[in-house]
Amino acid sequence: MTDSSKRDMGVKYAADRIAIERPRLREALDFLVDILAVQRELAREVVSPALEPTLPRVREAARRVGGGRSLLDLVDLPELPPSAWEMIALKILEVIRRHRRDLESHVAIVEGAIKSKRLDIRGLAESLLSGGGELVERESERLGVEAPLMETLSLWLAQTLLRSLSSAIAGEIGFEGWREGRCPVCGSHTRVGYMRGEGRKLYLKCSVCGTEWPFQRIKCPFCGNEDGQTLGFYTLGEDRRFRLYFCERCGRYWKVVDEEEAGGQIPAELYDVWTSHLDAIAKRKGLR
Ligand SMILES: [Zn+2]
Ligand SMILES: [Zn+2]
Repeated sequence: MTDSSKRDMGVKYAADRIAIERPRLREALDFLVDILAVQRELAREVVSPALEPTLPRVREAARRVGGGRSLLDLVDLPELPPSAWEMIALKILEVIRRHRRDLESHVAIVEGAIKSKRLDIRGLAESLLSGGGELVERESERLGVEAPLMETLSLWLAQTLLRSLSSAIAGEIGFEGWREGRCPVCGSHTRVGYMRGEGRKLYLKCSVCGTEWPFQRIKCPFCGNEDGQTLGFYTLGEDRRFRLYFCERCGRYWKVVDEEEAGGQIPAELYDVWTSHLDAIAKRKGLR
């Protein structure tokens, strides 16, 4: 068995463990496990070879990350040939089709637009990072498909490229100069983190590119508030594995897995889904 298929098995096994505890997550987990496996396959076969020539320049920029400027503030999103984008998009759509039979007709429309080169795939991935949802909205309207389908496709397109990029430059990023709640690689905000090791050091994990970076415990990743009086967290009764942090100043929340309590059996890429019950609690408390 290759390393990557071992890793896929590990993620699948961890997803099964979560589903035993919380059967309602079964479908979401199966979907996620499949998309992660396809993204890893695409990273290996399509993205990594295409990124190779740009890596020296990107690695050099990675060492200059700091002072609030993420890697993608310093360099453009790397180019991929249109054929690579097309293959990535079609593979992702295959997974969506398998798990969302109800969206079949919409998936077929998007697939047709890709095959006839009527969809700006790179543009969709880029629009996710620039935070401008206009292109996604415009394209879903133009094609007459559900906007959430287009949003999900954009996220998974960007992830496929950026996870590969992030792991290619791991070890090069100067985390010392990075005190932001935004990702030092792609600049996205995240609401997922974990505490690890003695002293329970806090790390945030980017939900887009997967980068993990150390972050101050008493600080809001969204507005930078460091006043302990207006920051806090909830735990769920006796269950000490999860913390729901909140900031009274901006009303945002973030979710932290205490790995000292949780043990190491669940890989961090499943934390967002694993902690989805905290999203529901946050919503009930009026956090966003
Ligand atoms: Zn990122
Ligand atoms: Zn805040």
